[in-house]
Amino acid sequence: MKIYLNGELVDKENAKISVFDHGLLYGDGVFEGIRLYDGCVYKLDEHLERLEFSAKAILLDLPLDRKGFAEAVCETCRQNNLKNGYVRLVVTRGAGHLGLTPDGCGPPSVIIIADEIQLYPEELYKNGLKIISVATRRINASALPPAVKSLNYLNNILAKIEAKRVGFQEALMLNDKGEIAECTGDNVFILSKGVIFTPPLDAGSLRGITRAAVMDLAMELGFEVKEQALTRYDLWTAEECFLTGTAAEVIPCVEVDHRVIGSGKPGEATQALIGKFREKVKKDGVFL
Ligand code: PMP
Repeated sequence: MKIYLNGELVDKENAKISVFDHGLLYGDGVFEGIRLYDGCVYKLDEHLERLEFSAKAILLDLPLDRKGFAEAVCETCRQNNLKNGYVRLVVTRGAGHLGLTPDGCGPPSVIIIADEIQLYPEELYKNGLKIISVATRRINASALPPAVKSLNYLNNILAKIEAKRVGFQEALMLNDKGEIAECTGDNVFILSKGVIFTPPLDAGSLRGITRAAVMDLAMELGFEVKEQALTRYDLWTAEECFLTGTAAEVIPCVEVDHRVIGSGKPGEATQALIGKFREKVKKDGVFL
């Protein structure tokens, strides 16, 4: 496997960065997770835009422009003969001193890993996922905007551990008002009285690329789609529930906090969206 590291493609064994890199010492950096479907890098431009916004938010000057990143991502996939998989693009603050300050750090490290993806098992797409809300709140936007896809994922990791410890694969995270924010790596949707709802971004959700794509697809299928603050009660009493994310795609959710959603099977709208999403992903992006 070849890894892109600061402009070069190196063997996995030689893909090494400094222990003084603030990405490692402080989680100081940004990243994107991108999918490759049949040689098409799905929504590459949207991912690179979000990377730019994340970098801007943390005052990190990216060392490449949009075209440079696009070429680096595609070249890494080509060099690994990858046609389907997952690309992890990471930009850290770079090596510096032991103190917190980014002064003296740099240049930023750019890492691109293109690999196979480990999805949820297909069985869960047929039968649905069970999720549970956890005590760990999604971090407040005034502390660190959840819209920033930073390398500091401890908030989500702690929520994931909480869910796993009680036997669930995914955690539902609330914001400090008790509203639904998102899951640890996925956005949340429900279908209620024929309308598709998802929490607004200011509830503490990442501006998911899959979220936006699914909102468009739902409208194409004739659904009304609304961004609205949601409570746990709204999820418990929904007809359908599903999660969206680059790795998970669209995955049905059939139980929330031990409450069965709808019939307990993935609903019709969810299934239609899964079908339409899988159809579209191979055409909507940049070809290698
Ligand atoms: N929320 C969080 C916290 C995430 O990390 C992700 C991406 N893994 C998502 C939502 C989904 O975003 P996207 O559809 O862009 O992958």
